[in-house]
Order: sequence, then C-alpha cells, then structure tokens
Amino acid sequence: MNDAQATTIASNLDTVRAEIRAAEQRWNRAPGSVSLLAVSKRHPVAAIEAAIAAGQHAFGENYLQEAEEKRHALTDADIEWHFIGPLQSNKTRAVAEGFDWVHAVDRLKIAQRLSAQRPSELAPLNCCIQVNVSGEGSKSGVAPDEVTPLAHEVASLPGLRLRGLMTLPEAVVDFAAQRQAFRQLAELQAELVQQGLNLDTLSMGMTNDLEAAIAEGATLVRIGTAVFGPRPEKTHE
Ligand SMILES: *Cc1c(COP(=O)(O)O)cnc(C)c1O
Repeated sequence: MNDAQATTIASNLDTVRAEIRAAEQRWNRAPGSVSLLAVSKRHPVAAIEAAIAAGQHAFGENYLQEAEEKRHALTDADIEWHFIGPLQSNKTRAVAEGFDWVHAVDRLKIAQRLSAQRPSELAPLNCCIQVNVSGEGSKSGVAPDEVTPLAHEVASLPGLRLRGLMTLPEAVVDFAAQRQAFRQLAELQAELVQQGLNLDTLSMGMTNDLEAAIAEGATLVRIGTAVFGPRPEKTHE
C-alpha cells in the first residue's frame, strides 16, 4: 500500500460518509442514525490501517482465517470487529472470543454455541439474525416466517445481545425492488419490537444499494467496494 492508495481510501471514506449523510437527509432520517461498517475482506492490513488513520473504527470480515490474521496484526489498534460471513459450528469459538459483533446468525444451534463460548469477562456478543427476504436466490438466512421464534430464543441467551436483523438480498439494480426487500426486513424488525424485544440495529445496504437501505431504515450499512475499491482475488476458504 503506497501513499496514493492510502489517500484514495481516505477520500473514498469521505465520499461514502457524505453519501450516508445526504441519504439521511433525503429520507428524513435523524442525522448520524446510520453508521458505517467498512468491509475489509480480501483487502490487506495496510488498507485497514489507512482507514483507521482516516477515522474509521468498525470493520467487517467474512473469512475467519483471514480475519484472525488481521486481528493479530492489529492488536494495538482500537477496532470494533464485526464477523459478517456465514458461520459454521467449528468457527463459533474464534468468533465468540475475538469479535464484538456477528451479523449472520441463522440457526439456534450456532447462537447457543456462541453464547456458551463467549468469555464471561467480555460484554455479551452483539448479534443480528440474518433473514432471507428475497427467496430463491440466496441460500443463507432464515425464512421470514421463522424469524420470530428464533429471535426470542436468541434474545434469551446470556452470552449474546440480540441487536436486530440483517439481510443480504439478491443484487438487483432497480431502486424500487431494492427498497422492497429492505422494507420487508424493517417490517419484521418492527413486529419483533412490538413483541417486546429491545432492538436497535437494521444491518442492511452495501455499495450498490446503500441509498435504498437508508430509505427503508438501515442503521448500519456494510460497505466494501466503495471504501476500499475492487476486491483482490479470494485467497482463503
Ligand atoms: C462483501 C460484503 C459486503 C460489502 O459488499 P460491497 O458490495 O463491496 O459493498 C457487505 N455485506 C456482506 C455480508 C458481504 O459479504
């Protein structure tokens, strides 16, 4: 990573922050109600360091081995780590021990393991339940009609703190179609809140659908490409 690349990341971050602020205004969202998670998967440690120097605090990773290497290289940095990839049972311990957030919980068994493995000296692990709102296309996430029972069970686990719902809808270009998927997630979340769950996070929106997500109530957008540029080839898992 040379100086020019670091400068590009800093200016990309400024641009994305400005887009988020503008979208908040356009859609009557409170200023500062949407936070930016920088998705650094497949980008080097130096890219994360450049983003930290530009004021970024929260980073999202998808691949456990890669994330662990980065965490160890960056132990001195003040980073909030989010695990946003799919979770298998054999990965829960590392996530429970090393991360602040997990976004893609979609099975009770995984949630129970994360809760049991969360070290007691740490705050409960923040988590979101991933919902498959777009049907056939994507395979991960619970079906909308399975969210309610899972959410209540997850909310009762002592090592976890259920913060809300997350989705990764099929990539579509049409703005109205993008909004439609995000609206479904927002409506599911509103039902859970009505049932008494204390939720404050809607994790939705990426580089290509951030505006639609903010229009529908996203509180956390997960942005990779617009911050770090195109991803290098996959090297892990
Ligand atoms: C890769 C990834 C992102 C970021 O995607 P971009 O289109 O690069 O912004 C967000 N969320 C998840 C779950 C991802 O895997």
